[in-house]
Amino acid sequence: MNTTTKHVFAFEDGDGKNKHLLGGKGANLCEMTQIGLNVPPGFVISTAACLDYLATPDHTLPAGIMDDVHTQMRALEQKTGKGFGDSENPLLVSVRSGSAMSMPGMMDTILNLGLNEQTLQGVIRATGDARFGYDAYRRFIQLFGKVALGVHDEAFDKEFAAIKEAAHAKQDVDLSATDLKETAERFLKVVQNATGRPFPSDPYEQLEIAIKAVFNSWGGKRAVDYRKQFHITPEMANGTAVNVVTMVFGNRGDDSATGVAFTRNPASGENKLYGEYLVNAQGEDVVAGIRTPKPIDRLKVEMPEMAKQLDELRDKLESHYHEVQDFEFTIEQGQLYCLQTRNGKMNTVAMVRTSIEMEQEGLINKQQALLRIAPDSLEQMLFPRLDPTVKADAVAQGLPASPGAASGIAVFDADRAEQLGHEQGLKVILVREETKPEDIHGFFAAEGILTSRGGKTSHAAVVARGMGKPCVAGAEGISVDVDRREARVGLTSFKEGDVITLDGTTGKVYLGAIPTVEPDFTPELNTLLGWADAVARLKVLANADTPDDARRARSYGAVGIGLARTERMFNDVERLPIVIEMIVAETPEKRQEALDRLLPLQRKDFRELFEVMSPNPVTIRLLDPPIHEFLPDEHVLERELSELRVLAQNARGVTVLAGAMGLLHASDALRHEVDTARRHIDPAVVEEVIAKKEAMLRKVRALYETNPMLGHRGVRLGITFPEIYQMQVRAILEAAAECAKAGIQVKPQIKVPQVCTAAELRKVKTFVDTIHAEVAERYGKPVSFKFGTMIEVVRACLRAESLAEEAEFFSFGTNDLTQATFSFSREDAENKFLPLYNQSGILQDNPFDVLDVKGVGKLMKLAVDWGRSVKPDLHVGICGEHGGHPASIAFCHEAGLDYVSCSGPRVPVARLAAAHAALLAD
Ligand code: PEP
Ligand code: MG
Repeated sequence: MNTTTKHVFAFEDGDGKNKHLLGGKGANLCEMTQIGLNVPPGFVISTAACLDYLATPDHTLPAGIMDDVHTQMRALEQKTGKGFGDSENPLLVSVRSGSAMSMPGMMDTILNLGLNEQTLQGVIRATGDARFGYDAYRRFIQLFGKVALGVHDEAFDKEFAAIKEAAHAKQDVDLSATDLKETAERFLKVVQNATGRPFPSDPYEQLEIAIKAVFNSWGGKRAVDYRKQFHITPEMANGTAVNVVTMVFGNRGDDSATGVAFTRNPASGENKLYGEYLVNAQGEDVVAGIRTPKPIDRLKVEMPEMAKQLDELRDKLESHYHEVQDFEFTIEQGQLYCLQTRNGKMNTVAMVRTSIEMEQEGLINKQQALLRIAPDSLEQMLFPRLDPTVKADAVAQGLPASPGAASGIAVFDADRAEQLGHEQGLKVILVREETKPEDIHGFFAAEGILTSRGGKTSHAAVVARGMGKPCVAGAEGISVDVDRREARVGLTSFKEGDVITLDGTTGKVYLGAIPTVEPDFTPELNTLLGWADAVARLKVLANADTPDDARRARSYGAVGIGLARTERMFNDVERLPIVIEMIVAETPEKRQEALDRLLPLQRKDFRELFEVMSPNPVTIRLLDPPIHEFLPDEHVLERELSELRVLAQNARGVTVLAGAMGLLHASDALRHEVDTARRHIDPAVVEEVIAKKEAMLRKVRALYETNPMLGHRGVRLGITFPEIYQMQVRAILEAAAECAKAGIQVKPQIKVPQVCTAAELRKVKTFVDTIHAEVAERYGKPVSFKFGTMIEVVRACLRAESLAEEAEFFSFGTNDLTQATFSFSREDAENKFLPLYNQSGILQDNPFDVLDVKGVGKLMKLAVDWGRSVKPDLHVGICGEHGGHPASIAFCHEAGLDYVSCSGPRVPVARLAAAHAALLAD
């Protein structure tokens, strides 16, 4: 431990840019103080002190810290004219956590520290307000008891409820000074009973305990879980700072208030102050959602001068930070203080809109407008909304706290949400009176969140918005009964397990499930992505197999299809029987017959894709999976056959019986019954089915492979059954020729899967050329097309030079290439050992989600370099799932690829990620 390191910084002295040392909040308080905002005086204890403290076995504060704290407290006394522990004019402080990364509500904060029986009297004398004094005291005892001494909230809540009941008080504000005095006394006893010690009354002892409690909260379960969930690594944030700030009071009468506000609307991005406040209240009342606050617009009516000052504060914050701010303020008897500010967490719709508008206002430039949006978050803009054609009556109306719509079964606590949502895979809606940070695991498991209390800045609203989940907050018409696991709403009710639907965009709640529809692109998103395309070098194509997919991908801005998996076109009720016929065919003629029937269907598929994407390229991959995948399962076939054989026996029995009865001139009625039975179970038909199934079973057994993913698939299949690839190539080229004839501009690209040697490509190319010539002759004009290869086999990377001689383009199939490079079978890996590998840090990420740059990426780079050494204009792209992942896209940019191809909904993400890659590249 380095005892000479400076750990304690006055707000006037701390480096406002050093979030790592001072935490986000601490650095901000320093910066705000230094740019002249009215911040209550205070100081910061560094994150380094926290780490030193946590590193000691018995949790000891670094030497000298409390001396520095004393010095700083004396400075605060001077600045405020008050004394810490002074019974005449006491100084009270808040002790707040704050790490380099914002972790809303995850760590602890203590308010009103410095109160004891003597200073309380001083507060009462100084303010002339006994009610205010006792209120502050009881809040302090509870918070300190809970956070610093580990006393459970329930013990306090029980006492408080009893006092409220006895006083017939509906709300906290209805309690008198005497009620609150009694509350404080009872709370002191609660602490004494729970800890076996009297409540600490020495302010410096309180301060030291509080500092340690905040440091400890960094290692608490809540904070650790949060960091894990949001992938906050020690490089991003390590340790929490402690901020000791002079208390200012929003609960000192009707000229006092407290509130939280965003400089712009965090749900829509509208350029208008957005927030809530409560008159005569303390900050925690707003954040905890205990009282429903008023919209900030009301302040103009209630305190016009303060509203004006708040507008000025808003402008100062934005012009200094060049970012939307989420700030807390307090008005203490006509004096406005800014308590903290941070970059506002907004949903993506708001992020996009503010990017466009702040650029137009000259607050930021286009680069900044692009870079402030996380590419992954754009998927949120494709969130569903309720189908507007479905008419349904809402049962409750709350605040539209986080947009999007979701249906699911109601659950009333976070543990149940986790159980039913995560463990049983059900869609759940978490319904609470209000949420607290300890409910966080329930948020992760839920589709949406509904609360009956609290405003748009309540915990539920803030967290749901951050996660991009729909949330309706403060639906006061709903009364939640957690013990009975049900909620009453008007004359009706819903229980755990009942399906409800939320619309976080309108704040409406419905009973039952309501279908959702795809959202539209906003004009702002189009503008932003236009800016992205202008700076990106990588083009973004889509993986799409159907015209609908292609249409959607195109509307999201895909400039072509990078991968159409033709096998997906086979898996269709109309085609599958033909495909099966083709596979089980015993002779080439029979196979050709089936293929001849498939040809027009495939031609139509391709033509539709060409039309939708015209004039952009459409890359069609020839059949890849092993053909036995189209056949029924061996065990199912065996079972069906044994059932059929029993049926055959019965059918024979029926026939014999029918014959016998015929001889006996059975009555007409009986004969009719026998005839019916015979028609239904005709032995000849049954025998025929058995023969077919037996043939199929023989084929299934013949095609059986121990390791089909490494077996008879891709180009290997195309070479052993050339007629399959020939049919597909013909269908592609004929479709292109038809389009050309109709004046539709097309760019067909044919790619061959699973290639490991140039000879394979040459073989396929020979029949491609033959068919091309035939088609040209038939249609009177050759169609132009490109011929390329998937690179998804390790050997293909190593033989890139010779493959480049045959191929006009390379398309990295990183799904297979990852399997091949690691020698991991994806499904086995993900089900068996990968989670453990990730948890224990053997592998940082799942390489099937995040491209393994060090291994797979290295092979890709080699292949690109070798390929281009032979053919400098070799076109190279990626079409594995990694093509839609921002970090992998950054790598593809760096490796010199020309395009990425990803699933439709990832296209906007990839477009922005491609721009980020270009902007952030060295
Ligand atoms: C790949 O292997 O990355 C690829 C795109 O092909 P598929 O996922 O169809 O195997
Ligand atoms: Mg593949």
